[in-house]
Amino acid sequence: MADEQRPIHRKIIHIDMDAFYASVEQRDNPDLRGKALVVGGSPEGRGGVVATASYEARKFGVRSAMPSKTAQRLCPHVIFVRPRFDVYKDVSRHIREIFSRYTDIIEPLSLDEAYLDVTEDKLGIGSAIEIAQQIKQAIKDELQLTASAGVSINKFVAKIASDINKPDGLKFIGPSSIEPFMEALPVEKFYGVGKVTAAKMMAMGLHSGADLKKLTEDEMSRHFGKAGKFYYQIVRGIDNRAVQPHRETKSMGAEDTFPYDLTEIDEMYTELDKIAETVVKRLERYNLQGRTITLKVKYSDFRQITRNQSFAKPVGDLKTIAATAKSLLLNSGVDDVKIRLLGISLSNFGELPQKTGKPGDAGQLMLF
Ligand SMILES: [Mg+2]
Repeated sequence: MADEQRPIHRKIIHIDMDAFYASVEQRDNPDLRGKALVVGGSPEGRGGVVATASYEARKFGVRSAMPSKTAQRLCPHVIFVRPRFDVYKDVSRHIREIFSRYTDIIEPLSLDEAYLDVTEDKLGIGSAIEIAQQIKQAIKDELQLTASAGVSINKFVAKIASDINKPDGLKFIGPSSIEPFMEALPVEKFYGVGKVTAAKMMAMGLHSGADLKKLTEDEMSRHFGKAGKFYYQIVRGIDNRAVQPHRETKSMGAEDTFPYDLTEIDEMYTELDKIAETVVKRLERYNLQGRTITLKVKYSDFRQITRNQSFAKPVGDLKTIAATAKSLLLNSGVDDVKIRLLGISLSNFGELPQKTGKPGDAGQLMLF
């Protein structure tokens, strides 16, 4: 197997809020609870579009992106509510704050949906299922809303998984279950397969992942272009796309609390070298470089300082990061200090060189 085709075992969670806008409206207005509800444009005049339908409205076939007039025809008693984006944004910020307790590798897809890479979670919990449970519980406790989570080793499977037990669901698909799961999956459920492609696949007698698997990589490319190659890999459980933190990730770094206080400059430098190495590994993994390097120092009396230096161009190499951290430390004063913690982080990432295409945009799917 070629290197780029080997599956990378990450711990990925896809979190998706349940009927987000509608649930927020029902939470804030008890009169709307248990009611068929559409958040979106009014059906009057030329008519608006459904942004989100409550589960009560979905029972009547009301769906997102449907004209509000259609929604009213399907469900005559449906209540239309204007969206309050400021409120949704606030809730979204709070949700991301909850995510950030566990990881900095967060890729938001919209206000109510995100991928999280918890391969190395901040709290050292280790179990992605446990983390997903805790996040769901925090969202419930702090926001009185429910979310569904999908847990797997890659983005593709995690996203499909989050949809399986909605609402308030949690579905784990482990490495050994991925291939059977993908084989059983109907082609129209394949993330990125639109209606046109699905119809083409059906016409070719391809109804499930198992059917797709019978085609060679060349055949997949010939029939479905660049996306064909993506499907070829995905049906074998291979999706090495990294969770891309975008600009949403404000900083990435590492820190270490020492078993005894550091008093010698040599020890401090040695520790900074180690921490810088960890930081560089993390940056490389997520293809990030930052323009600002920040040093954090905590003393034995728990006093804490941060010092930073910014660069004209983004940096991410070990030499620069370690040297900058050391000079920042030196400038902060190292005489007669007892240091219990050192940390280095990079921020000010700016634009990333990689794009994160929408599913279905075949040109941007090839991110491996
Ligand atoms: Mg949602």
